[in-house]
Parts: sequence; C-alpha cells; structure tokens
Amino acid sequence: MKITTDGLVIWESKTGEADRVITLLTENGIITAYAKNSLRPKNKLTSPTSMLCFSNFELYSGTNMYTVDDAQIKHRFIKLSTDVNGYSLAAYFCELLKLLAPIEDAAEDFLSLMTNSLYLINEGKKPLFLIKSVFEMRIMCLAGYMPDIAECAECGESNSAGGFFDVTNGVFYCESCVKKSGRAVNIGAAAVSAIRHIISAEGGKIFSFDIGVASLSALKDVSEAYVCTHVDHRLPTLEFYNSLTT
Ligand SMILES: [Zn+2]
Repeated sequence: MKITTDGLVIWESKTGEADRVITLLTENGIITAYAKNSLRPKNKLTSPTSMLCFSNFELYSGTNMYTVDDAQIKHRFIKLSTDVNGYSLAAYFCELLKLLAPIEDAAEDFLSLMTNSLYLINEGKKPLFLIKSVFEMRIMCLAGYMPDIAECAECGESNSAGGFFDVTNGVFYCESCVKKSGRAVNIGAAAVSAIRHIISAEGGKIFSFDIGVASLSALKDVSEAYVCTHVDHRLPTLEFYNSLTT
C-alpha cells in the first residue's frame, strides 16, 4: 500500500552501503522508513530524508517498516546547520519525541510543538533555555504526565504567594502546606504561573509569557528535573547539550 504524508525527520541512521533508516514524526505518529541510496550525494532522497528536514513523503508499507519511494522538501530549518547549540537542543527534542510520541497514532500536537520550537530556535527569537523548558513541560503533558498545579495539593489554595513544586508527583504546594509535602522545591509563584501557562495555552502562545530572571532559572531546573524523573531512560542528547551550555 502506498501512502503520502508530510513528516519531520527526527532520526537517521546509516545502513548498508549508502542507505538510511529514518524516523519520521507525522500528524499520524511516528513512522520508520527505509530510504535506499539516500546517502549518495546526487540521489533525489538525500536532502529530503536528512535530519530535521520537513518533507512530503511517498511511502510504501512493508513488513517491518515503510520504504521511501519519493520525497520533496517542504521546509528546512537552515540556520540550525551552523548553530551547534541550537542543533543540539533540536536533537534532544528529537530524542524525547522518539520516546514519548505515539507510534502510528494521532500526533498533531507533538508535531506542532516540535515545528514551533524549531522555528524559534532557527530564528533565534527566544533564548534556547526558555524554548527548552517550554518544550519539556509541554511534551510531558502531551505524553500523559500533566502536572496538577491548579491549586495546592494539600489545602486547595490557588493564589498562594509561594510556589513549591513536587517533581516526583507533579503537584504544587503553598507556603503553609509545604512542610507536609517533604520534597517539594521552592520555584516561586512566578514559575508556577509560567508552568500553568505552558500547560494550558494554545499553539505557539505557549512560548509567550513574562517571567523574571530568577524565576526563569527555577523553571529551567524544574522542567529538566521533571523530564528526567518521569522519562525512565538515559538521554545522551541532553547530556551533550548541557555539556555545551553549562
Ligand atoms: Zn496549601
């Protein structure tokens, strides 16, 4: 059976003499496909099947994976190829998508989160650590790990001046109740508000909120801790990104 779909290449590996196996993120989930001769310089598949290329694919279904029959580039995030930090962050996002996005099931929200994030990295319009935190919190929500921070998990207060986030349980405590929680981290009310925004805003608006430097630093720490706590997997791309930026 032949299908046509738009997809973002989120992983590629060499196989055979000059072939690639690629992982695509599409609106219908993750698809794995074999792209014959796509590592030969003048092959028609070479560019559209390369990492982080958004292309239209014609695919034949096979026993274990699809085979790419044809592909046309729709969009390239060109500046990423010369931006080591930005590219490394994008590779980390790809690794999270491979672990968390559904396989051959509805994934429009994952694709839109990724393309919006790549656009911002490529254009340099937001600091990388802000894009990283927003992506981390949002992908965890999409994958079923939405934190419950509308109100204090103990007393139900929703307008507390403080903000204590329990990374393990994904809940929030007010200043009065934090002693009972045991392991909640003080991230401040502004960072809690930012997380509430990231969880609930629509589309590209998730990246638009005002936050002070100290609160942004708290958000940065807590979003990464939230991913690492709930994704039970080593993340080499995160380790590499952090080695560049810290
Ligand atoms: Zn409370």
